[in-house]
Amino acid sequence: MEKLISCCGLNCATCDARIATVNNDDALRAATAETWSKMYGAKDLTAESINCMGCREEGVKFAHCEMCEIRKCVHSKGYETCGECSEMDGCKIVAFVHDNVPEAIDNLRSLN
Ligand code: SF4
Ligand code: SF4
Repeated sequence: MEKLISCCGLNCATCDARIATVNNDDALRAATAETWSKMYGAKDLTAESINCMGCREEGVKFAHCEMCEIRKCVHSKGYETCGECSEMDGCKIVAFVHDNVPEAIDNLRSLN
């Protein structure tokens, strides 16, 4: 599957929100909303909110990803991803992603 790497390095191609959006799959939207609600303690997540084509792709974005601090920081510096940033090692903004999904760092390095 082609990799669609987000600003922080996640692979949007394997994200259930994108897969549900691409396939217009309401059952997957509902399951994703339920899983993410528990995982992130976000009780306001509904199936209708699960719509996203990817962080750096044209089209609809999941609100939490569109407004995330990492994405805003990347854009404010004129970068495409954190992989272009000399401050990435030790950056506290992107650390929670890289601590939980170390593969994201490899994804960013593979873009350079
Ligand atoms: S930007 Fe969209 S596809 Fe990428 S991780 Fe966030 S919700 Fe998933
Ligand atoms: S400061 Fe951190 S969040 Fe901002 S672009 Fe650099 S690595 Fe990414």
